[in-house]
Amino acid sequence: MTTPTTTRTAIVTGAARGIGAGVAKRLAADGLAVAVLDLDETACKSVVTEIETTGGRALAVGVDVADEEAVQAAVERVAAELGEPTVLVNNAGILRDNLLFKMTTTDWDAVMNVHLRGAFLMTRAVQTYMTKANWGRVVNLSSTSALGNRGQANYAAAKAGIQGFTKTLAIELGKYGVTANAIAPGFIETEMTKATAERIGVPFDDFRTVLVKEIPVGRAGQPADVAHAVSFFASEGAGFVSGQVLYLAGGPKS
Ligand code: NAP
Repeated sequence: MTTPTTTRTAIVTGAARGIGAGVAKRLAADGLAVAVLDLDETACKSVVTEIETTGGRALAVGVDVADEEAVQAAVERVAAELGEPTVLVNNAGILRDNLLFKMTTTDWDAVMNVHLRGAFLMTRAVQTYMTKANWGRVVNLSSTSALGNRGQANYAAAKAGIQGFTKTLAIELGKYGVTANAIAPGFIETEMTKATAERIGVPFDDFRTVLVKEIPVGRAGQPADVAHAVSFFASEGAGFVSGQVLYLAGGPKS
């Protein structure tokens, strides 16, 4: 394994809470400077403080990943204030679940905009620094829902799209030392899955019990489980792993 001569800078989107917060803290513990991006800059502060308290470097940046100009400005700010980013974790996400016949165009567009347009805009902005450095790591959050999930036509399409996007990045950017991989989690305990339980009117403990019965390792996933996989894909030694989709679901899911 090669050791970097300078500290790498990572950007994690949707990192104020949930999986993104877990990933940001893990990459900081791995020695990277971490830009914590989310819609609300103030909401990113507690993750930044936690990283700084443990001796790391971090920066809170408010940005809507679906907003082209805001993305460009946010990435330039990270480069100026923290360091030129060469690790990008496209994690920001939303749900707008409904059965197809009830799904509004607004809910379709909202999900496409955050997951697909967001990952596209962020990656296009950050690849400039990656190709310049001749080194980079892109990790995109897909989902087991990419395989199809009732009530999630929009989300499933976006998460399957993320996989095609990832494989294409791997092909186009490989010659610049940039890898791109996707992680497709199953059930991870976060505000997102708590909101799903609430939406369908089931107490979260009951919701978890039902889902865990179907998980071979017999427990729900945690943000730290996803962060561990991101840490691997972002590592110096993972330079020959590219274009892959890792199903991270406590059992085989594809
Ligand atoms: P979460 O708890 O809802 O966190 C998502 C974060 O993304 C929130 O802080 C949210 O901000 C932020 N965000 C939403 N729209 C944004 C935008 N346009 N620009 C910037 N930030 C935005 O979700 P999570 O469970 O940690 O999920 C993280 C990722 O993993 C998502 O891509 C999700 O689809 C994927 N995933 C999750 C699971 C699971 O079981 N939890 C499974 C498979 C895949 P606000 O709070 O302000 O909305």
